[in-house]
Amino acid sequence: MQVPLLDLKAQYAAIKDEVMPAISEVCDSQSFALGPAVAEFEEKIAAYCNSKYAIGVSSGTDALIVSLMALEIKPGDEVITTPFTFFASAGSIVRLGAKPVFVDVDPDSYNIEASAIEQKITEKTRAIIPVHLFGQAAQMKAITEIARRHNLAVIEDAAQAIGASQDGIKCGNFGDFGCFSFYPAKNLGGFGDGGLVTTNREDLAEKVRVLRDHGQNPRYFYKMIGGNFRLDGIQGAVLTVKLKYLDGWNEKRRQNAAVYDSIFADSPVKAPKLDANNVSIYHQYTITVPERDKLQKFLAENNIGSAIFYPKPLHLQDCFSELGYRPGDLPIAERLCNEVLSLPIYPELAPDQVECVAKTVLKFYGIN
Ligand SMILES: *Cc1c(COP(=O)(O)O)cnc(C)c1O
Repeated sequence: MQVPLLDLKAQYAAIKDEVMPAISEVCDSQSFALGPAVAEFEEKIAAYCNSKYAIGVSSGTDALIVSLMALEIKPGDEVITTPFTFFASAGSIVRLGAKPVFVDVDPDSYNIEASAIEQKITEKTRAIIPVHLFGQAAQMKAITEIARRHNLAVIEDAAQAIGASQDGIKCGNFGDFGCFSFYPAKNLGGFGDGGLVTTNREDLAEKVRVLRDHGQNPRYFYKMIGGNFRLDGIQGAVLTVKLKYLDGWNEKRRQNAAVYDSIFADSPVKAPKLDANNVSIYHQYTITVPERDKLQKFLAENNIGSAIFYPKPLHLQDCFSELGYRPGDLPIAERLCNEVLSLPIYPELAPDQVECVAKTVLKFYGIN
């Protein structure tokens, strides 16, 4: 049985008849940069996220950058984040001239270890960027408490967590900003790049809205230096159509995860662990296993796709060598990079496909 890691064509086939007329409408209007399709999407996605304000931007990376710009993060500032995440979580900090300070992760949730944050705070620390990795919220109660105590901003990197919640609160509402990505492979994916900033603060929403269009307000008059972080009209139209299906898709991912969980119970395969107060959207279903690389090869030989998110922690990347980290500094993140493997979890998978993947994994370990 062939099971790819992700099959975007299956989802497209299901919505094609709805999405093509929506794109065609944008073409007829010729409103390609922001415009009414983006405004409509912003209204609907704000309601979906339970956030007062939602501002469409050009990517998840730009959502992080424009949020840092709105907080006036500058050279010399320090921003705390996790080393076990996609590059942009830390790259965006350096793009502002600030310094990322990495805090090791919790081995069960893969998210930043909240109890280890406080010891890394200095007089230069300005913000924390927790990442809700693989669709599960970081420990936001502890993190926002630390931030309040030290007067730090919190930017949630929720690129992998749209629709996820903790204690009944949707991701993106714990901090000053929520940053989302509509990269095609994300749970809510556009037909190209796109992103979103959510906030519940009117002053910050206004600032992001001005900064995403070069800082102009009114047109051709600039009080701040922003950039071109605008979302395309076509993406707004596509995402408005797809948003209606997001909860259903996320539910299918949870069902697939439950099948994996039950098959992997009492085996050498460590399934992802959820905190009891979290509802995950399973952007990835990421296991921790012995002999990871051999397992991945075995799966490929059996026509099963998998991926390593992520093979090298950020604190050891060449581009951050000036920060001075050494192997062994953040041991849990480093270990996870050698042990994690993400399995197919997308909503269109058939139950027998999920079962086939899980049983092939167990077969590698000699379990039938
Ligand atoms: C995808 C992703 C981003 C960046 O989003 P883009 O839209 O690709 O720029 C940032 N952080 C995390 C955790 C991501 O997964």
